[in-house]
Amino acid sequence: MDAGLYIVGTPIGNLEDMSYRAVRTLTEVDLILAEDTRKTGILLQRYEISKPMLSCHEFNERSRVERVLHEIDSGRAVALVSDAGMPLISDPGSRLVQAVREAGFFTTSIPGPTALTTALALSGWGQDGFIFLGFPPNKSAGRRRLLESLQEESRTVVLYESTHRISKLLADIAELLGDRPVFMARELTKKFETLQQGTAAELTLFLESHSSKGEFVIVLGPL
Ligand code: SAM
Repeated sequence: MDAGLYIVGTPIGNLEDMSYRAVRTLTEVDLILAEDTRKTGILLQRYEISKPMLSCHEFNERSRVERVLHEIDSGRAVALVSDAGMPLISDPGSRLVQAVREAGFFTTSIPGPTALTTALALSGWGQDGFIFLGFPPNKSAGRRRLLESLQEESRTVVLYESTHRISKLLADIAELLGDRPVFMARELTKKFETLQQGTAAELTLFLESHSSKGEFVIVLGPL
């Protein structure tokens, strides 16, 4: 296997969503950089892959760059995976990928699932373009500023949100974007996958009568 950096997509919930190429790549590389080595360990165990791992997350990515450049320069193949989905999509890796490419080393990706495209396809929107904004700001003022800036945005908008802030996000959407249609995808590919479309106020009522636990993608329909 050629020395370089292999950016490998992994499942967003359902462990069967690993591609053959992802399994083969993780089997053949010399080292796996993982956001959380314990979580990636579960995936590797499922596919009977035994490989040295090194953590690479938002708090140590900067210090990992030199180490990875050295590994690749010494002829080794290094894989980068995140806890779920595609690395760098609202996940760490940006600094590392840029450094490896700037150093002139081989870089490639083994594409896999991502919550962004899975939810977008299920929404039925976005064929004429969309914008992806990742997580809205945690703090209320920043989140509201972002939503205000979307009042004139006619394209489909995709946002990520966690269990802790989904209710606040929906309340702010209801207040600032009114009746704009919203598609909510929860726990994609998992046992309790939930897909629901309505206004933000309707989705709030839905979550009040069901559980609001899980990982969410919110898609704002086009105007
Ligand atoms: N790299 C990932 C990807 O490719 O989608 C995203 C990682 S980001 C840290 C985690 C967020 O992605 C979650 O809070 C949620 O908004 C979204 N997400 C990830 N997996 C999901 C799933 N199975 N169902 C719904 N949303 C999911």
